[in-house]
Amino acid sequence: MVEGEFCRHMSKDSKKVQVTGFTYDDLKNWVTVDLGMKPYRAQQLFSWIHLKRVNSFHQMTDISLAARNELDRTGEITDLEICNAVTADDGTVKYSFLLKDGEIIESVLIPDSPGLTACISTQAGCRCGCTFCQTGRGGFRRNLQTDEIVAQLYGLQNRTHSRISNVVLMGMGEPMDNFPAVSDALSIITDDRGICIGARKITVSTVGIPGGIEQLAKLNGQYGLAVSLHSAVESTRLKLVPVSKALPLPLIKRDLLDYYNRKGRRITLEYCLIAGINDTVPEADALIEFAADIECKINLLVYNPIEGVPYVRPDAESVNRFMHYLYPRCQAVTLRRSRGSDIAAACGQLGPGFNRTFSSCSDS
Ligand code: SF4
Repeated sequence: MVEGEFCRHMSKDSKKVQVTGFTYDDLKNWVTVDLGMKPYRAQQLFSWIHLKRVNSFHQMTDISLAARNELDRTGEITDLEICNAVTADDGTVKYSFLLKDGEIIESVLIPDSPGLTACISTQAGCRCGCTFCQTGRGGFRRNLQTDEIVAQLYGLQNRTHSRISNVVLMGMGEPMDNFPAVSDALSIITDDRGICIGARKITVSTVGIPGGIEQLAKLNGQYGLAVSLHSAVESTRLKLVPVSKALPLPLIKRDLLDYYNRKGRRITLEYCLIAGINDTVPEADALIEFAADIECKINLLVYNPIEGVPYVRPDAESVNRFMHYLYPRCQAVTLRRSRGSDIAAACGQLGPGFNRTFSSCSDS
């Protein structure tokens, strides 16, 4: 019954489908075709799971007991277990979620006046191997299923009284490397029958892999796009982001221009400053030239040291110098405050260390 079309929604440890990972259309199909129920049940289910965020079919009081029993026999609502939560001095909270197969992923809730930003993961580990990133150092373990991506957001939302206003797919993993699950998750969290976070409030971050930006551009919503550039000098970028070999700078630029032309949204170029590596004047000049004909904002952040990694955090004076060199020569430059660095929740800091499966938020 759940083979074929719905097998990607199968739980890792049971024969039940993870209903939380169904887009509305998939849910309707499952309810009507597989379970033989009336189409209106899909609307009820979607609302209970994604708006009211219950974690049991038996809490769905407007659904008959017989139907609830049938749903419970074949389906499951994903409710991720939080195994650790740490709050930073600045109010940023890092949550560790324990998945059913023992993997641990992390999500971060960042108070961002006037809203709240959720940084969520799309993979356990990452195969991109960026040399400044703790997640990359831990290697790739598996893609997250759609329900595991969505349930992180609900896990965070259920732990705060304020509405999450922004979502960044910038945690563990490269979203474009798990695009089918990411695409379904985006469909679910933007659906106005559920939690309904506008596409313009959602940013997908990528280091740039072939076909990735193009796939995002084909989706309907005006999603924000952040590209982890880190250097506009090919040889430096290759050192920092080894997978950039597959998508050199001219091809990234082509994809960014195409994304802007299709979506009309300014792109963010993420640039993590590392002392002596990419904070020099020639690096700044290359960045200025790369960004010149792209409608973009350059978002500078400062490398957060990781144990065992030879990179060095630049001092405040170097950061200021780099930033002020860019200012008059670029459309927009921001310096991102490092959030949660005292709890290792800042960009690139999280990673293996808690145990084999402990990983991090860092696509930056
Ligand atoms: S920076 Fe992002 S893409 Fe690179 S290894 Fe880390 S998680 Fe993966």
